[in-house]
Amino acid sequence: MFNSEVILEQAKMYNSFYLYDQKTIIEYTNKLKDDFSDVKFLYSIKSNPNPMVVDTIFKQGFGADAASLNEVILSNNKGLKKDEIYYSTPGKTIKDIEDAIEISIIIADSLNEVMKIQEVAKAKGIVAKIGIRINPDFTFNSNVGVSSKFGIDENILFENKKELDGLKNIEIIGIHVHIRSQELETDLIEDYYKKMLILAQRVEENLSIKLKFINLGSGIGIPYSKEDKPVDTEYLGNATANMIKTFKEKMPHAKIFIETGRFVVTKAGVYASKVLDIKESYGNKYIVLTNTLNGFVRPSVAQFAESNSKEEYPTPWEPMFTGKNSFEFIALTDEVEKEIVTLAGNLCTATDMIAKDISMPKLKLDDVIVITNAGSYAAVLSPMQFASLTPPAQLFLTDDGNVINTEEN
Ligand SMILES: *Cc1c(COP(=O)(O)O)cnc(C)c1O
Repeated sequence: MFNSEVILEQAKMYNSFYLYDQKTIIEYTNKLKDDFSDVKFLYSIKSNPNPMVVDTIFKQGFGADAASLNEVILSNNKGLKKDEIYYSTPGKTIKDIEDAIEISIIIADSLNEVMKIQEVAKAKGIVAKIGIRINPDFTFNSNVGVSSKFGIDENILFENKKELDGLKNIEIIGIHVHIRSQELETDLIEDYYKKMLILAQRVEENLSIKLKFINLGSGIGIPYSKEDKPVDTEYLGNATANMIKTFKEKMPHAKIFIETGRFVVTKAGVYASKVLDIKESYGNKYIVLTNTLNGFVRPSVAQFAESNSKEEYPTPWEPMFTGKNSFEFIALTDEVEKEIVTLAGNLCTATDMIAKDISMPKLKLDDVIVITNAGSYAAVLSPMQFASLTPPAQLFLTDDGNVINTEEN
């Protein structure tokens, strides 16, 4: 799962660090490519924008799901072509649109934004090929839509056909829907894809246009806890290929995209943190680790959710909280004797706590704890400026065994 030797070696230099493993990224991206045919994958950069991680995934043939102008620019700088970069997020500014319009396919998130893109395209004297993010008349679990801050409601889009037809500097070439992350039920994802392909046909009929792409968004989850069952991507890939085959008889011109962040990177990252202090108070033993809440916030959020909820399984809230037992804490020690401890961090706040009263091998100063599932929504979400502590290093283990500090590069 991770290379203890490499971690112990690096721990001589860094008190806390992320280690991303190129081999694992290649393994997970290959799995998707092998299991799905006739699908182009887009990497959701926001899940982990580490330059070596992004490089590896782009070299595997993935396009970009960019959530900001800066992610569009990053993808462009790394050599992706315009039709490999999809820029989808609410609330784009005129400047965002001006700078992105010639190097990416912009996905309009609202009618206002369609007007903004029209304005920019007109000023530049071009016809912008765009996508529309739709809030569809369905969800993963039901056949009715729900209110959302994302996208344009399906019926509102269709009601505005005439206005859209009047915009001469815009051509709608695709649709995008993303309504769920971290879904582990294969059947639900299959069902969702089916509904999406039917939606694509409704859009073509209602707007009298030909779609060049249908972006199915994300959904494919990854097991975090031991109780989670992985998505059967082999089955899902086959089922999707069959759907696409039938669909392409009607819409041969459309490409199918699937976005993913967490599936390809979650398991490729671990977080390592050194024991800075050990103490006892009123009979409890505290292990003080380096940069926990501030370095990798999610285990603290999980601890917070679990200790403040009356539910045994508090409701997940992606991407801050995935569910109970989402992270393992593994001590890199030969010690076999166990004891009950509380794992806390070195911040001046009591919230900096990642596990209460858990059984761990007896720890010593400078021992290293490894936290799993640190490859996605980890470094990017963590409040690293808090208390002005030196943040964790970002290390990358190449498939030929070299460790690169990606910030010194
Ligand atoms: C964040 C995001 C994703 C990625 O979700 P994962 O659960 O990491 O796969 C995909 N699409 C959009 C639009 C997103 O905002």
